[in-house]
Amino acid sequence: MVIINHNTERTASVSEQLRALGFGTGRPVVIAGPCSVESEGQILAAAAAVKAAGATALRGGAFKPRTSPRSFQGLGADGLRLLAQAGAATGLPVVTEVMDTAQIDLVAAHADVLQIGSRNMQNFALLKEVGRAGKPVMLKRGLAATIAEWLSAAEYITASGNFQVILCERGIRTFETYTRNTLDLSSAILARQLSGLPVIVDPSHAAGRGDLIAPLSRAALAAGLDGLMIEVHPDPAQALSDNEQQLTPTAFASMMADLGLAPETEEQQMARLDAAIRALQAQRDRLRGQA
Ligand code: PEP
Ligand code: MN
Repeated sequence: MVIINHNTERTASVSEQLRALGFGTGRPVVIAGPCSVESEGQILAAAAAVKAAGATALRGGAFKPRTSPRSFQGLGADGLRLLAQAGAATGLPVVTEVMDTAQIDLVAAHADVLQIGSRNMQNFALLKEVGRAGKPVMLKRGLAATIAEWLSAAEYITASGNFQVILCERGIRTFETYTRNTLDLSSAILARQLSGLPVIVDPSHAAGRGDLIAPLSRAALAAGLDGLMIEVHPDPAQALSDNEQQLTPTAFASMMADLGLAPETEEQQMARLDAAIRALQAQRDRLRGQA
């Protein structure tokens, strides 16, 4: 069966584009932002809030895969433009979904990472083409996909020569109804081991409810996974999609602080650098002692 395992030192093999997202830095990647881009004010407010709380990238859907055709379908090209504007305003790279081969060039012109959503995990025509844009691709696990199916889907992307694939576990469909889906951490861990690719966890779509986001995020990081994708909206109750699972900026900031992921103050940065300098000096002294 599998595939892709580069078997190299993960941090050493991280490309510049993945490093810009926060991969390979030793700290978890946190992609945060609203389910959908809804307006200029909404995405700018969300971007500023997630940046201030320590997020490393901004998300926001412009082309939305909605179960019902009567639901909000996203702002399309206008949404991409607003998302790119919010990314530029905050210095955050942006992640957004591409649903169709015909949208790839347009989305790639605005986004730093192209997201393949759950419902398209086995859209093989899309998988074959999306890697050619030369941007990292975030491949969400299908609603009922096995690990082997998920990794085979990733292999469709890497077959184009683009190995910048990020896997995202977003919950699978089970018999449970208290949650929207069931977060499958064991598969996320196995997918990481088997593929050598970075794996992040999206507790927002897995749980479908705000109260589980923080504990599930903690569990994902404790399991050694590479990061999180969290939906954050300036006013979740008014959101045009997924209003039950999006965190307020305040709840997101408090979760980030609890996880130790809030941005460091200048003082903390200096203390960390001082400690690193002291450790290097001690290492140098030991070498000199041996010489
Ligand atoms: C999303 O992340 O915007 C999304 C639609 O999620 P999923 O494809 O996992 O349902
Ligand atoms: Mn959503």
